[in-house]
Amino acid sequence: PIAAMPDLRTQALDILSRTFGYDAFRGNQEQIVLTLAEGRNALVLMPTGGGKSLCYQIPALLRHGTGIIVSPLIALMKDQVDTLRELGVKAAFLNSSLPLTEQRQVEQALLAGQLDMLYVAPERLLTEGFLDLLGRVTPALFAIDEAHCVSQWGHDFRPEYQKLGLLADRFPHIPRIALTATADERTRRDMIAVLQLDDAPVFLSSFDRPNIRYTIVEKDNGRKQLYDFIRCQPEGSAGIIYCLSRKRVEETAEFLRGKGLPALAYHAGLAAAERERVQDEFLLQEGRIVCATVAFGMGIDKPNVRFVAHLDLPKSLEGYYQETGRAGRDGLPSEAWMSYGLQDIVQVRRMLATSEAPVEVKRIESRKLDALLAYCETATCRRQVLLAYFGESLPQPCGNCDICSDPPRTWDATVAAQKLLSAAIRTGNRFGAAHLIDVLLGNDTDKIRQFGHQALPTFGKGQDLSEAAWRNVARQLVALGYLLPDDEGYGGLMAGEQARALLKGEVSLHLRELATPKPKSSRKDRT
Ligand code: ADP
Ligand code: ZN
Repeated sequence: PIAAMPDLRTQALDILSRTFGYDAFRGNQEQIVLTLAEGRNALVLMPTGGGKSLCYQIPALLRHGTGIIVSPLIALMKDQVDTLRELGVKAAFLNSSLPLTEQRQVEQALLAGQLDMLYVAPERLLTEGFLDLLGRVTPALFAIDEAHCVSQWGHDFRPEYQKLGLLADRFPHIPRIALTATADERTRRDMIAVLQLDDAPVFLSSFDRPNIRYTIVEKDNGRKQLYDFIRCQPEGSAGIIYCLSRKRVEETAEFLRGKGLPALAYHAGLAAAERERVQDEFLLQEGRIVCATVAFGMGIDKPNVRFVAHLDLPKSLEGYYQETGRAGRDGLPSEAWMSYGLQDIVQVRRMLATSEAPVEVKRIESRKLDALLAYCETATCRRQVLLAYFGESLPQPCGNCDICSDPPRTWDATVAAQKLLSAAIRTGNRFGAAHLIDVLLGNDTDKIRQFGHQALPTFGKGQDLSEAAWRNVARQLVALGYLLPDDEGYGGLMAGEQARALLKGEVSLHLRELATPKPKSSRKDRT
């Protein structure tokens, strides 16, 4: 340490402004930078767009040697490195996409101490040859980006990531920083354990996106509901609509175009040139609406996306958060809208039940699905539920979600649930919701007669509720796991293990009332 050296904070600010052109750190970036610069480890949980890169780029420049950045996103490495080079940073990357001769050149540059930063794919980092190379230079730090990949609980588990713990053993004096935008408790524990970060301070940024309003409607005619929703948006709003399948993407785009809206389709089945064209049009022209599968969005940074709609259930709450997070990066009021119904739940529950994945994976997926459905079916503030999932608590209801604006009423649905469950059991646990409801309403249909179901004790015992109300009960029972898809796969439902206590009257069940459609309000009317 030389007395005349400016302190670390001054140096960090200097790099921030001279190299990156920013005049202030954001959130807890400064603390993180200083922690690393001092040679200590850190765990950083920050939402997408929060500014994770600077957290390791600045200390990499501050410290002697080359900052080694482990990233699984090979496709993005070149862009990141190009951007850094434009800023005058000596950066390079190593992955399988690079020709061998260039790989050798990069290794030579590393050995010669000519690199400020080196991005490397985990499988490359873990080779004995590369670790050996690292042993002959001084890494400034190790940054493990997308660190949730160590966790099976995370949405993209990567086996190579689990071996990154060896960095701690082989380079105990080099600071390590793990970064992710996934913040739930389980993932956090896994990252700490695998990457040996027990002593590292955890820097948790808020995941709240207060300018995004969350709304979920019960699907009745999804496309029409979507169109009504879009019509209530300010004229010329740009938006993204996520659909489950390529076919749905195409159909939805066509439907919206038929209504005179500037809708585009994007999915992995399109030619690369077409995908690029759609992406460019969305980024460069105002007010475009892209119907897309989840393939759309990675690396897309458009600040004024005014709405993100889900026409089908997303894969998980993490996925939902990431996708809805593409709205309103500019901080202005934006909408996250979703429609979902009984069929969606039956479909995902069934996909899970019939999946070939290992038991352990299926159990995790099933818990994640429960969390997603609990979010969809909540009777309390959605933002509170969403943030709680990411380990954050919001003390007060947010006032900016559909539940806060229009709290659903709940009712004691114990008897109704018992009736529906008995109808499922008495008909052999293999009919779909529509038929069970016909039984309860005492409807005279061919199917009822074919199976002699008019003779059942439950036949016609549900006339106190409307058909819509029964569908609402059925959806919530499936969401809550009382009714499960049967093994046949034709939409049949069976009473689950959980149903027993309810049928015996040992527990009672409160469900949300069917929402009464509200007169539409335009965003422009809102203050
Ligand atoms: P993340 O990796 O967390 O998704 P990035 O590191 O890509 O986020 O940063 C998101 C955007 O925010 C980038 O455009 C980046 O240049 C910008 N940014 C980050 N930190 C600052 C800052 N202190 N001041 C201004 N802009 C910043
Ligand atoms: Zn709320």
